[in-house]
Amino acid sequence: MIIPKYLRKISSVVESSNISELVSMRCTCGNITFKVFENENNQSRNVNSEILRIDGKLYYIKRNIFGKIKEKNEINQQTELERKVLMIKCEKCNESYNIFDNYLNGYDAQLNNLQKKNVKMYKKFDNMKVFVKIINDLSYEEFKSDIGNNDVSYETYLSSFSYIEVYGYDCREKRIKILSYETA
Ligand SMILES: [Zn+2]
Repeated sequence: MIIPKYLRKISSVVESSNISELVSMRCTCGNITFKVFENENNQSRNVNSEILRIDGKLYYIKRNIFGKIKEKNEINQQTELERKVLMIKCEKCNESYNIFDNYLNGYDAQLNNLQKKNVKMYKKFDNMKVFVKIINDLSYEEFKSDIGNNDVSYETYLSSFSYIEVYGYDCREKRIKILSYETA
């Protein structure tokens, strides 16, 4: 099993191989439809945002319909990895589950001690059946030698996966991409 512990109690395995696993999310109450939430960061930097270099500095910018810059946020090279948090909430019982937080889960999170500030979440989708695919292309042995620590637990290895993909099916059974993130 490749699915890390924090996802296991809500995972039903759909497909499994040596390096990857696809699971569907099922709430502990038995329900399989969820509201999907993302941290606000991503909302402000979605489709309409582009990266531009102005006077040697990098900015995320947004343009109005005439192409004029209406919003400009400097990307500080010193700032840590941009936070990405995804959680789902059961439509029936309202229980919520963390699906991914790049400061907690995945290879980068295990190696860096990242400061976990609270994030503001916003609802992205309603009524979705949610699927999670995890890829972990290192074996346990490779992982241990990679990080130079032989005492690291198997659970830590599992939560240090290298790639996560999340997608959903809406009420009309249309497939919708929710997240695709390489953690290393
Ligand atoms: Zn539930």
